[in-house]
Amino acid sequence: MRLHAKWFLIISTLITPIIMSCNRKCKVDLIITNAKIYTVDPYFSVHESMAVSNGKVVFVGSTSEVQAKYSADETIDIEGKPVYPGFFDPHCHLLSYGLNLQNAWLSGLNSWEEVVKLLVEHQRENPSQWVLGRGWNQNEWDVKEFPSLGLLDEEFPDKPVLLTRIDGHAAIANSAALKLAKVNPDTIIVGGKLIKEKGELTGVLVDNAIDLVRNIIPPYNQTDKQAALEKGQENCFAVGLTSVSDAGLDLGDVLLIDSLQKAGRIRIKINAMLNPTNENFIHFLNNGVYKTHRLSVRTIKLFADGALGSRGALLLEPYSDAPNTVGLQLETKEKLSEICSQAYKAGYQVATHCIGDAAVRLMLDIYEQFLEPENDLRWRIEHAQTVNPDDSPRFGKSSIIPSIQTTHATSDMIWATDRLGDRIKHAYIYQELLNQNGWLPNGSDFPIEHINPLYGFYAGVTRKNLAGFPPDGFQMENALTREQALKAMTIWSAKVAFEENEKGSLEPGKHADFVILDEDIMTIPIDSIPSLRVKMTFVDGKVVYLRQND
Ligand SMILES: [Zn+2]
Repeated sequence: MRLHAKWFLIISTLITPIIMSCNRKCKVDLIITNAKIYTVDPYFSVHESMAVSNGKVVFVGSTSEVQAKYSADETIDIEGKPVYPGFFDPHCHLLSYGLNLQNAWLSGLNSWEEVVKLLVEHQRENPSQWVLGRGWNQNEWDVKEFPSLGLLDEEFPDKPVLLTRIDGHAAIANSAALKLAKVNPDTIIVGGKLIKEKGELTGVLVDNAIDLVRNIIPPYNQTDKQAALEKGQENCFAVGLTSVSDAGLDLGDVLLIDSLQKAGRIRIKINAMLNPTNENFIHFLNNGVYKTHRLSVRTIKLFADGALGSRGALLLEPYSDAPNTVGLQLETKEKLSEICSQAYKAGYQVATHCIGDAAVRLMLDIYEQFLEPENDLRWRIEHAQTVNPDDSPRFGKSSIIPSIQTTHATSDMIWATDRLGDRIKHAYIYQELLNQNGWLPNGSDFPIEHINPLYGFYAGVTRKNLAGFPPDGFQMENALTREQALKAMTIWSAKVAFEENEKGSLEPGKHADFVILDEDIMTIPIDSIPSLRVKMTFVDGKVVYLRQND
């Protein structure tokens, strides 16, 4: 109720001057009519028509109301098609997704041999100084084991190679790359691992060990990054994304985004989460929250552990399929607390990657040192994949927001039970987590998962993968309703970025960012959702994507 009252106040203050200046028929820039507009307002209202002016929503209501009140330069009759607020991915990696588009993409293959073959072909067509790729996943292969560098050395005896696993928490390097990075079997690494066989390196690097090689790759220049952001943005618009939270950026990258947005080259809206670097602290934290029309900077992104697939997720009890390990803690508790303290003082949000139940507990312990019950700081736990039953009420108690990726559940479910055993019942518990605060954001973590937010909607509601497996859904007690799934990729994504008063719903005064689909995700048979396509995407009332050639 408190939320509703607050919204009403904000909306009525925004709407008053508009009504007052429109005694007669008011001129606006654009009218969308004959539509089914899901406003995602507090009442989840659906309307037929919408008036847009100066990049903002002016009015949403019936066609007759809009016609009586407004005239427009342009009126688009969209023939009954559904309209939704622009989709907002609350946790993804736009820049690295864009950069990865230039490298080999290695997922969806059946064996390590196929990965290397694809890489050789890609390199023939796109020769580069370093051979880079991403997306391999041994759990997809016939032999579900980590690869080793033999085949890579045969194909690339002199060129350095680094191939990152699908989850970004493991990679394989060839001998040339290991040699350049001066990595040998005796190299010591904290918060990471060098996988060895009979004392020899296999080339597989887990978590912090990846940096040993990654840090010697010549950095991308500004032109590469600009091209990556522009290409990434184009692909986002094509799937209806108008806002994203990029989870972990360095200072130069945030400044580049800001300048490209100011120059009008990047129109997608970005909530930039900062890596905890010194230069980010000096430039941003010391000066408080940074906000423009298209960019917000108010979050520190941390890592507590690694990923489940590479057994880097930090568990309270050992892995069910590797009884000698509980995973990896990537940073000391003292260091994590110290960063949280700095964020707290600067009024910044903290968002920490936690996959294992021990990582979740570690961060809840730290967060609780700073957070009063019913606070509005919206500190986040990213992924929150495995949560001990004792810990899930702590999210509600201290208003800590779980930030989930429903496609992770449907990607991992096939092998996650091997890692977790009975603990699988406490994994991917999205409905239970939603109930803690009454809301949560759902994203894709692309490029780890596909960029299309409708896949997340589908996975959240059906708990099935794109092959329709399992037919009755995975642990359906934690499925989301369609309404929850839509809110989680619009208004709740905006809310976790503190932007619910400007984005995430189509209400007067808010950004006119919206998407038109061919059919209605709220009513069509659920299994047809993944093949649904975007017809048009608008940002600030302007078309940024129009599907051609039907
Ligand atoms: Zn991520």
